Amino acid sequence: MNWCFSFGGGCLRVEGARKKGTIFPYNGARRSENSMKLEGHLRKMRTSHGETVRYGLLLDEQEISLNDLLGSRIRLSFLDKIHCIECGKLTKKSWQQGHCYPCTLKLASCDVCIVKPELCHYAAGTCREPKWGEDHCMKTHVVYLANSSGAKVGITRETQVPTRWMDQGAVQALPIFKVKTRLDSGLVEKMLGEHVADKTNWQRMLKGDPESIDLRALADKIIDEVGDALKPLVLERLDVPAYNFNYPVTKYP
Ligand SMILES: [Zn+2]
Repeated sequence: MNWCFSFGGGCLRVEGARKKGTIFPYNGARRSENSMKLEGHLRKMRTSHGETVRYGLLLDEQEISLNDLLGSRIRLSFLDKIHCIECGKLTKKSWQQGHCYPCTLKLASCDVCIVKPELCHYAAGTCREPKWGEDHCMKTHVVYLANSSGAKVGITRETQVPTRWMDQGAVQALPIFKVKTRLDSGLVEKMLGEHVADKTNWQRMLKGDPESIDLRALADKIIDEVGDALKPLVLERLDVPAYNFNYPVTKYP
């Protein structure tokens, strides 16, 4: 079923039985008047931070609470159509999480510097969409340590805290630096990444919660190891409490 969730713009049908405004278990052959069917284009799931992380499956304007469906049977069907999440055109294949190919070549949000922030080329005057770059990349970023399948370093826009960590499935996260731009965040991430991983091992995440890590002690240690090279890039060393996340997992596979 994972492939259903791996691209945006794909047209999906979700079936279950409707009761009190939520979706109830899909009941196979027996269709009552309560049974329901929702169709729409898949978008990135919405997450919210609470005692337990909550996930909303977005189909166009509709949001389905996945937490409420845990333990229930529902049917998901891919309807063999993908529409680009940017221009809406029909596309055979989904590129970069829901775009048609021409849009991936045109949009700044699909450029390589989005996955490799240290390659941000805004300053060279070659940003594909300078206005988008100003709004997204020339903004304060946060460098953090997180624990999803072990410790890793990462970066995010300040406005993406704490969504970024729930998207990654991190159980702990500690913001450590504020920096001025996406480029600076990428450079700092690279320096720290030489002392701690910068990748997530998703296979390991399927085996259960990772062991708790003292992220603050780890941050002190690697910042010390990198030393003065960080100074010109860092706006502020953060001293905030670590975030903790509990996921609505009933059983690991
Ligand atoms: Zn497009």
